[in-house]
Amino acid sequence: INTPDVLACGCPPEQLAAMAMALFLHFKKPVMIVEGKMQYLYDERGRRYLDAFAGIVTVSVGHCHPEVTEAVARQSALLQHTTTIYLNPQVAEYAKELADRMPGNLKVVYFVNSGSEANDMALMLARLYTGNWDVVCLRNAYHGMSIGTMGTCGQHTWKQPMPQGFGYHHALNPDPYRGAFGDDGPRYAADVADLISAATPGRVAGFVAETIQGVGGAVSLASGYLPAVYKMIREAGGVCIADEVQTGFGRTGSHYWGFERQGVLPDIVTMAKGIGNGLPLAAVVTTPEIAASMAGRLHFNTYGGNPVCSAGGRAVLRVVDRERLQQHCADVGAHLLSRLGGLAQRHDIIGDVRGAGLMLGVELVKDRRTKEPAKAETAAVMETMKDLGVLMGKGGLHGNVFRIKPPMCFSRADADFLVDVMDVALSKL
Ligand code: PMP
Repeated sequence: INTPDVLACGCPPEQLAAMAMALFLHFKKPVMIVEGKMQYLYDERGRRYLDAFAGIVTVSVGHCHPEVTEAVARQSALLQHTTTIYLNPQVAEYAKELADRMPGNLKVVYFVNSGSEANDMALMLARLYTGNWDVVCLRNAYHGMSIGTMGTCGQHTWKQPMPQGFGYHHALNPDPYRGAFGDDGPRYAADVADLISAATPGRVAGFVAETIQGVGGAVSLASGYLPAVYKMIREAGGVCIADEVQTGFGRTGSHYWGFERQGVLPDIVTMAKGIGNGLPLAAVVTTPEIAASMAGRLHFNTYGGNPVCSAGGRAVLRVVDRERLQQHCADVGAHLLSRLGGLAQRHDIIGDVRGAGLMLGVELVKDRRTKEPAKAETAAVMETMKDLGVLMGKGGLHGNVFRIKPPMCFSRADADFLVDVMDVALSKL
């Protein structure tokens, strides 16, 4: 990391060296961010950037949204922490407000601190409730970096060379762009039936998936996939887990929860990132029956369900509703998607433009026919866009998909600016 480029970012070398082992920098010439305001970020020199990645889809209602900041400050001055050995109204009211936003009988909320923890708990609940062990997940999936969730991930880049747990089975990814069956969800689902009969005792604990894969590169699961798979999993004794870490809280525009896009009702829902607008907060929501399967032993989590994060989480729910951010994501997202579609007509390197609301992807390929990933080009365009003042994300196994997932307050004018800057950057290739 001791390259002149990195040193030029303003971070003292001894500080960089201290973080070196964990460093995963997004840019060749890294950016140091010291301040944020709604959809903008500022570096240490005061330069403003338009943020199209929201700290990896974590900032939902806007950087330092005043209502969230104020709620956190007020609760911080009143009571910061006691753990769940005592009751606290902030936490209880938050649980109720979150449960009120869930369909069906998804009425019991556990708070934890990260998406990985939430998915760990969901996997444990599925196994305890069903008495089965095997879990079906998707190739190209990402559900966390804990020992438990690493096994569910379907990309080698996120798997440390060590045992990945056992009982995880990765089904064909129902990827409409790269998959063998296009947008035919039920055809991909047949692979799940095959997996259950070939790789498990015929009984499974559950199935876990996002409706639009985030880290995987904004891949919307093929139409009709989830209804078909949920049916198979339940017939094999399992429960269905929806990972809403990135797709929740209205980001996809058409619905408040991503799973609603496929008309399914999960048994367990996990959420993180946008739930706290940047605060370390996550949750698992399930039915009373499934929740009861944990009651035979004690459960404890020191920071899960703390008053400060709960105050922030409640403010996020209020802001999403009051500022009608789901509708806003639908409107701005549709405009952005259509402008990106226009860009694809002029730049052959764009192989696919996809997603919903403000969860969009632009996949770059060297050749539209072979779909060979344009990895280096993606990195170069991202670097140029950063130099021009727009911070983008990228993902997909080959790092050739732009992930456009800004704070949900992103405006139509911001969308236009982003596309114009992308146009310039693509033209420079
Ligand atoms: N699920 C999904 C869909 C995610 O995108 C992530 C984080 N990228 C996680 C789970 C894990 O969340 P965390 O990093 O908070 O553990």
